[in-house]
Amino acid sequence: MKLWNSLSLWQQILVGLILGVTAGLALGEQAGVWLKPLGTLFINMIKMLIVPLIFVSLVCGITSMKDPARMGRIGLKAFFIFLLTTAFAITFGLVIGTVIQPGIGFEIAGATAPPVRENPGPLATLLGIVPTNPFSAFATGKVLQIIFFAIFVGVSINLVGEKADPLKKIFESAADVIYKMTAIVMAFAPVGVFGLMAWVAGKFGVDVLVSFSKIIFAVYLAAIIHAVVVLGGLAGIFGRINPFRFFKGISAAQAVAFSTTSSSGTLPVTMRCVQDNLGVSKSVSSFVLPLGATINMDGTAIYMGVAVLFVAQAMGVDLTMAQYATVILTSTLASIGTAGIPGAGLIMLSLVLTSVNLPLEAVAIIAGIDRILDMARTTVNVTGDAMVSLVVARSEGEVSDVKDVGIHPAEALKSSA
Ligand code: ASP
Repeated sequence: MKLWNSLSLWQQILVGLILGVTAGLALGEQAGVWLKPLGTLFINMIKMLIVPLIFVSLVCGITSMKDPARMGRIGLKAFFIFLLTTAFAITFGLVIGTVIQPGIGFEIAGATAPPVRENPGPLATLLGIVPTNPFSAFATGKVLQIIFFAIFVGVSINLVGEKADPLKKIFESAADVIYKMTAIVMAFAPVGVFGLMAWVAGKFGVDVLVSFSKIIFAVYLAAIIHAVVVLGGLAGIFGRINPFRFFKGISAAQAVAFSTTSSSGTLPVTMRCVQDNLGVSKSVSSFVLPLGATINMDGTAIYMGVAVLFVAQAMGVDLTMAQYATVILTSTLASIGTAGIPGAGLIMLSLVLTSVNLPLEAVAIIAGIDRILDMARTTVNVTGDAMVSLVVARSEGEVSDVKDVGIHPAEALKSSA
C-alpha cells in the first residue's frame, strides 16, 4: 500500500492499464461481465462532476477576470488554434491514409449499414448555444449552452459589482468543493482504467487486431505523430514548456481519455492536470478546456481522413483533388460538431462519406473496431485541448511556475485547510 501511494497518478493508471489488458486477454468476454462495471462506475463518477465543474469554475473564471474584453480575446485565440490544428490534422490523416493504404484488400460490399442516428451537424451545434432553459441545459449536459450561461452569469456578477459579492464568494467556495471532489474521484482512475481496459482487451482479443491491423496502425501512427510532433511542438514553441514535461503533466488525462474514449468525460481530469501540473490559470483553463472538449477534435479529424481513404481504397475509388478539398472542409466542420462522447466520430464520419458519395455501409465495418480507434483519437483530442489552453494562457501571461509535476492521489483525502 505504501509503495502504491508513493506512485503518482499517471504511474498508478499505467499499472491499471497494463493489468487491465492482461486480465482482459486472460478472461476474454467474461472480463466485460465482471470487470467492466468498475470502469462504468468510474465513468459515472466523473460524468457526475462535469456539469457542476464547468459551470462553477467558469463563473469563477470570469468573476476573477478584471477585464471583460479579455474573455472574447481568449475565446478567439483558442478558436483560431482549434481550427488550424484540426485542418492540419485531417490533411495529415489523408497523407497517412495515402501512404499506408489501409483499405487495399478489404471487401466492403454486402455490409449492412447501422441505423442512421440523428446528427445535428456543425451549424446546428453553433446555433444552439443559447439555452432556452438553463436547467434543461444542465440536466441534459449541453456543454456549449452551459458555457454560454456561465459566461452570462459571470459577466453579470461583475457588472453588479459589490452587491453581488456574496454570490461571487459562494461560487468560489463551491469551486473549491468541486475541485476537491474531482481529486477524490481521480484517485479511483487506476481502478476504472483497469476495468475498461480489461473489457476492451477481452472483447477484441488479438485476432481482431490482426485482421484490422492496417487501419488500426494507420490511425495510431497518425495520432502519435500528430500528438508528439505537432501538439508537443506547439506546446514547446508557443507554450514555452519542455514537451516532455507537457506530456508528463497531462499523462493522467491522456490515460483516462484513452480508456474512457470521452473527452467530455475526461474534462475534470484534464482540468486538474493542466492547472496543477502545467500551471495554467483557472480562468483560462475553465474556459478553454470545456470549449475544446466540445469542439476541438484533432484526433477525430485524423481518423476521418484515414477512414475516408480506407473506404475509397476498399471500393477502388480514386478521389479527385476537389473531393480531397471537400473531405478537409466537411471533416473540419464535422469534427467541430462531434460531441466529446464515445463513438461520436463514427456517426459524423457518415456525413463526410456522404459528401464525397462514398457508401455508408463502410461505417458498419469500421463500427466493429471503432472503440479501438476511438481510444487513439480521444487521447489526441484531449492532448490538443491541453495544448491550446497552455498556449493561450502563455500568451495572456496566465501560466504560473509549478515545481512538482505529478498528482498524488493519496493527497486527495487530505484536508486543504
Ligand atoms: N470519442 C471522441 C471524444 O470524446 C469523439 C469521437 O468519437 O471522435 O473526443
